[in-house]
Amino acid sequence: MGRKRKSIIRVTRRKLPKVFNCPRCGMVAVRVTISPEKNAKVICGDCGLNWEKIEVGKRTEAIDLYNEFIDKFTSEGE
Ligand SMILES: [Zn+2]
Repeated sequence: MGRKRKSIIRVTRRKLPKVFNCPRCGMVAVRVTISPEKNAKVICGDCGLNWEKIEVGKRTEAIDLYNEFIDKFTSEGE
């Protein structure tokens, strides 16, 4: 009586979201790109809000840049 539970675990952790929420227009249209030269660009495809950062760290990920981007635009505006 050893009923083995078959569990199929799909690991989709590595798949990070590619588009984020825009702090200005609220649309999920913000894209983060990091060039091979380690220059990052954060652009909202809807309202055109954009931000650039040069020479990001080796381990910097899109989400980190997005967070920084949010910081900038939420503290600057008001
Ligand atoms: Zn926007």
